[in-house]
Amino acid sequence: MSSSSNSFVSGTSSSKLRKTASKEEEIDVITRTPGAQKLNAKCGNMSCAARRGDIPLKHCARCKTIMYCSRECQVAHWKDHKTWCNNNVDHLAELEAADRDGLNVGLPDGMSLVELDQRLEKWVKYHNSLLMAATIHALELPRDLKRSHQYLLRVRVSYRTDNEGVPGKLFRVDKAFLVDIQSSRSKGPVWVQSIDEIERLRTESEEKRLGTVAAIALECSPLAMQIVPFGSLRDLSPLRIQKEWKEILIRNVENGKRFTRFE
Ligand SMILES: [Zn+2]
Ligand SMILES: [Zn+2]
Repeated sequence: MSSSSNSFVSGTSSSKLRKTASKEEEIDVITRTPGAQKLNAKCGNMSCAARRGDIPLKHCARCKTIMYCSRECQVAHWKDHKTWCNNNVDHLAELEAADRDGLNVGLPDGMSLVELDQRLEKWVKYHNSLLMAATIHALELPRDLKRSHQYLLRVRVSYRTDNEGVPGKLFRVDKAFLVDIQSSRSKGPVWVQSIDEIERLRTESEEKRLGTVAAIALECSPLAMQIVPFGSLRDLSPLRIQKEWKEILIRNVENGKRFTRFE
């Protein structure tokens, strides 16, 4: 993975590389968990309250996917971060190996899998607030915050060759729908690992009274499904639920528009 300011980017264990896709679930090459802006505003050590803005945060030099306020916080969090850190490093290595093996055949513009992955990361970052808003409305969190424990928003995107070099237009949303978390566990090991990761994040966040965590399961063939978590979600009851969340999401992404309001 390229360097990133996301601090909660975390990889789940990688699935095996597959050259042929016989079933929908088998097109996955690699899985990982990219981060959420909301989660990265503070030191990666959950017990530390330091926020970006108060104090400069520094990336984990190894995976560059999490930030800490100090060496002490990094050391204190290493036990929790170790698996993610290794998975993120493995993730990039696997994409590079897949490129060497010629698995990128068929990607537009002669793009490698590593490049596709980097562009997707850029797009997720650009649309982070929009994606979070879509998740809040799709899951109807203003009605009941606990629905984040029960549902995921599954979003399928495809690369756009007509992106005009605009980060927000790099991908198009083809599909977006709610899935039940527990029944998704039966979809295979990638899902089990990803769901375990979300639940771990959510439990940690709720125990520290930092709000709940909801997530998108993002798919972009031939990359694996990846999890985009959104944290610090607290009482959302004043918000009026947008029933047209799907149309709003698709339209805003299509226009490559930077998020201002969910409309
Ligand atoms: Zn800290
Ligand atoms: Zn790391």
